[in-house]
Amino acid sequence: MVDIEAVHALRDALNAIGIRVADGVCMAQHTTFRIGGTAVLAAYPVTDREAEQTVCLCKQYGVACAVVGGGSNLLCADDGFCGCVIFTSELRNICVSGKQITAGAGAPLVSVVRAAQKASLAGLSFAYGIPGTVGGAVYMNAGAYGTEIGNLIESVCYYDIDQACTVTVSGEKCGFGYRESIFQDQSKVILSAVFLLTDGDQEAIRSEMEDHLFQRRQKQPLDFPSAGSAFKRAPGHYTAQLIDEAGLKGLTVGGAQVSEKHAGFIINRGGATAQDVRALMEQIQTVIWEKYRVRIEAEIRYLSDCALHF
Ligand SMILES: Cc1cc2nc3c(=O)[nH]c(=O)nc-3n(C[C@H](O)[C@H](O)[C@H](O)COP(=O)(O)OP(=O)(O)OC[C@H]3O[C@@H](n4cnc5c(N)ncnc54)[C@H](O)[C@@H]3O)c2cc1C
Repeated sequence: MVDIEAVHALRDALNAIGIRVADGVCMAQHTTFRIGGTAVLAAYPVTDREAEQTVCLCKQYGVACAVVGGGSNLLCADDGFCGCVIFTSELRNICVSGKQITAGAGAPLVSVVRAAQKASLAGLSFAYGIPGTVGGAVYMNAGAYGTEIGNLIESVCYYDIDQACTVTVSGEKCGFGYRESIFQDQSKVILSAVFLLTDGDQEAIRSEMEDHLFQRRQKQPLDFPSAGSAFKRAPGHYTAQLIDEAGLKGLTVGGAQVSEKHAGFIINRGGATAQDVRALMEQIQTVIWEKYRVRIEAEIRYLSDCALHF
């Protein structure tokens, strides 16, 4: 149960130090799934310091908080979020220096890919078309076409909530694995990341980017809201292929449906609720287990699971 007085006190404290806040933010408008109720409070830090202060104040006032980037891998509950959503959208600086690109957590990943291309830096074109931010991509170790963000990370700067300090960690120490990173322990707020790229040819990079985007448009149901692949790959299996072979394309619960175009995607056909999506995901998991004895794990993150409770 949300302590509304604590939320109001938090809002006043954030206001007092000039951090922009908003009451009652509709999460459906901030997730690519277009699903989710209202977050009681939202904060929009514009500097790393403000991001740190926001988390510290949430902790001080005992208000749960959740960090949200592009909301492209998120499912928010129908009854919203009883706490403060910290949006990273204003932490969006991108700076190119030699073969390195330093980007704020809220910088759109596609903007970093474009900056790399402009600077003739190769390595990131696989990420062209992955929606969301640098912070979300690092947290998820987003990947496509056999490459992952973690392969290109020189270092990540984050705020450690438990230790109450800012830390810079090298890419090797980020615990990157398939859709995994140390940031998933929910005690770290990613502030920025440094990418280390290689020299490349501008036109060749552009053509790779366009090729990847073309493939996405061909294969993915981009005309419907979704959060990308609903499930992770199971070891030794292509999950989308299993779902397809199990005859689950088109399976529908309420407004949520297994895409006819790409069985790995759950789409919002209109009016889908978080409950619909969760029920559909459970049905898929049950069928895949019963038919193939394969357990498939959600790739989509639930906002409630990403929250820090103080
Ligand atoms: C059409 C479509 C295609 C997609 N294609 C791909 C693909 O090819 N490959 C792939 O890997 N993914 C893909 N995705 C999923 C998604 O885009 C990625 O996982 C993306 O990296 C998520 O970034 P985000 O900023 O939107 O994160 P969000 O959805 O906002 O958040 C995801 C998680 O990261 C956490 N987080 C975000 N920012 C921070 C931060 N600064 N500090 C700490 N935690 C943070 C959140 O709390 C949450 O737990 C796709 C999604 C869609 C809708």
